[in-house]
Amino acid sequence: MSDAELTDGFHLVVDALQLNGIDTIFGVAGIPITDLLRLAQAKGIRYFGFRHEQSAGNAAAIAGFLTQKPGICMTVSAPGFLNGMVALANATTNCFPMILVSGSSDRAIVDLEQGDYEELDQLSAARPYAKAAYRINRPQDIGTGIARAIRAAVSGRPGGVYLDLTAEVLGSALNAEAGRKSLVKVVDPAPSAPPAPEALARAIALLANAERPLAILGKGAAYARAEAEIRAFLEATGMPFLPMSMAKGLLPDDHPQSAAAARSYAIGNADVVLLAGARLNWLLSHGRPPLWNENARLVQVDISPTEIDSNRAIAAPVVGDIKSTFAALNAAMRPGQIRRQAAWMDEIGKRKQQNIERMAARLNADPSPMNFSSALRAVRNALAAHPDVYIVNEGANTLDFGRNIIDMNLPRHRLDSGTWGVMGIGMGYAIGAAAVTGKPVVAIEGDSAFGFSGMEVETICRYELPVTTIIFNNNGVYRGDPAGRPYSPTGLLRDARYDRIIEAFGGKGYHVTDTPGLGGALAEAIASGKPALINAVIDPTAGTESGHIQNLNPRSAAQAR
Ligand code: ADP
Ligand code: MG
Repeated sequence: MSDAELTDGFHLVVDALQLNGIDTIFGVAGIPITDLLRLAQAKGIRYFGFRHEQSAGNAAAIAGFLTQKPGICMTVSAPGFLNGMVALANATTNCFPMILVSGSSDRAIVDLEQGDYEELDQLSAARPYAKAAYRINRPQDIGTGIARAIRAAVSGRPGGVYLDLTAEVLGSALNAEAGRKSLVKVVDPAPSAPPAPEALARAIALLANAERPLAILGKGAAYARAEAEIRAFLEATGMPFLPMSMAKGLLPDDHPQSAAAARSYAIGNADVVLLAGARLNWLLSHGRPPLWNENARLVQVDISPTEIDSNRAIAAPVVGDIKSTFAALNAAMRPGQIRRQAAWMDEIGKRKQQNIERMAARLNADPSPMNFSSALRAVRNALAAHPDVYIVNEGANTLDFGRNIIDMNLPRHRLDSGTWGVMGIGMGYAIGAAAVTGKPVVAIEGDSAFGFSGMEVETICRYELPVTTIIFNNNGVYRGDPAGRPYSPTGLLRDARYDRIIEAFGGKGYHVTDTPGLGGALAEAIASGKPALINAVIDPTAGTESGHIQNLNPRSAAQAR
C-alpha cells in the first residue's frame, strides 16, 4: 500500500482540462492556485498571466466566443474572485462560454464566518451571475466537476460557469489509478439541436408570404459559425439583412443585400422579420415602435426556448441551433418559394444611397484637430490592406462611430462592448483574441474606456503580442473639459501621453495629431507584428454626451416641466 503511486488535486485538475482539449489558461497567480498554474504550464498548457482578474476573465470569455471551447480564467480567492466576476457576468450576458475557476479558503472557517484569509462564500456570490456554479469538495470529484462545468458552458445557450476549487482539494492526495479512472472526457459537449420540421414549415410559410422581409443577424449566429448556411439562404431568397455589431462580417459589409446603411427604414418597414441569434433587447429597441412596425410578424431562430416572446409576440419560433436550422431551411425551401422582392430592395437601395451620400461629407472632411469621423476614416483605410485583423472596439462615440465606419469582411472579427454596453473589455479581449488566433489585433479605444484595462499593456508587451491599441484621446468621458479647474465628472487629464505607457514596457508608442500620421502609424504598427500604442489626439469638443444612447440618462421630472 505504501508504495502505491499517488496523485493530487493539482495534477487531476490539469489532467482533466487537458483530457478535454483545454490548451490555454488566462489568470492571475496567488494563493492557493500558484502551483496549479505552474503545473499547467509545465505540462504544456499556455498560460497568460494578467495584472487584473477582470481582464483575464474578459480574455477567457472572448476566447470562448472565438473557439467554441470554454475559455478558462483562474483566480485567487475572495477579492481576486470578485474581480473576475464582472467578466463572468459579462460572459453570461453575452452568451460566451467561459469557466471562472477560483481557489477558495478553508470551508470550515468560511462557513462559520470565523475570519479566514480571503474569506468569502464564493459559490453563493457567483450563482446569480453565472449560467451554472459548482464546487468540488473531494479530489475524486475533480473529473466530474470539470466535465459538468464544460458541458454547462458550451451546451445550449453558452454562458459563464463558476467552478470553486478549495485549497484543501488541490492539496489532497489520491491513488493515481483511482484518479485516472475518475477523469471524464466529455463526449459531444455542445450537441447540435436541429429544429422541429413543423416549426420550419411555419417559418417558411410566413416568409413565403412576406412582401418586405428582413433578416437580422446577431452574434449568436457568429458564435454558431453558421455563415455558409446563412449566406446560402439569404442569396437564394434575395432578402436584405442587418448585422448586429458583432455579427458584422458574417456576410461582408459591402454585400449588396446589406441594409445596414438604411437600418431604421428597413426595420420600420419590414412586414416579416427573421431574427437569427439576436435578442430583442435594448440594442433592438425591444422590437417596439417607433423603430419597429407594430404589425410586423416575426420569425425567431434561437437555441434558447425561453428567449421566444421575451419582448414581443413571435409568430414563428424556431428553436434550434442556427447552423442546423439554416441547413434545414435551405433543404426544406422549394426554389422560388420565398420570393425576391425587387421593389422593396430598390427602396432600400435608394435609402442606402441617400444615407451614404449624407455621411460622405462628414467622413471626407479633414478638420484639425481630428474628429471621430476623420480619424476613423484613416483607420479604415489603413485596415483595408489587412482584412484578417481582429478589431476590438469600446468607448461611447468611439464605439458608435467605429461600428458604422469600419467595415468587416470576415465573421467573428469584430469584438466589442456587446450586450451590456460594458467598458473595460478592451485589453482583455485584445489579448484573448491574439492568444487564440495568432492574428494581429487592433483595439480602437476611447481614452476613458482604455483606462479600465490599461495596465494590461504590460501583459501585451510581456507576451510580445501583435496588438495595436489606438486611443481616441479627447481628454474625457464623451468629450474633454474646457480649460480650467476643477475637472468635471467627465473630464480626464488634458493632453495625456498614453503613448509613453507602452514605451515603459519596451513597446512602440506613437503620438499622432492628423490623419496621415494616424494612418501611417497604424500601417507600420500592424506590419511590425509587435506591441504598439497610438495616442491619436482628437478634438476635445468632438463627441456627444453618452454617444447614441443619451436617451438612457434619467432626466429630472421637475426640469422637464
Ligand atoms: P446580438 O447582441 O448580436 O443581437 P444576442 O447576444 O442578443 O446577439 O443574441 C444571441 C442569441 O443567440 C442568444 O439569444 C442565444 O441564445 C443565441 N444563440 C447562441 N448560440 C446559438 C446557437 N448555436 N444556435 C442558436 N442560437 C444561439
Ligand atoms: Mg474620450
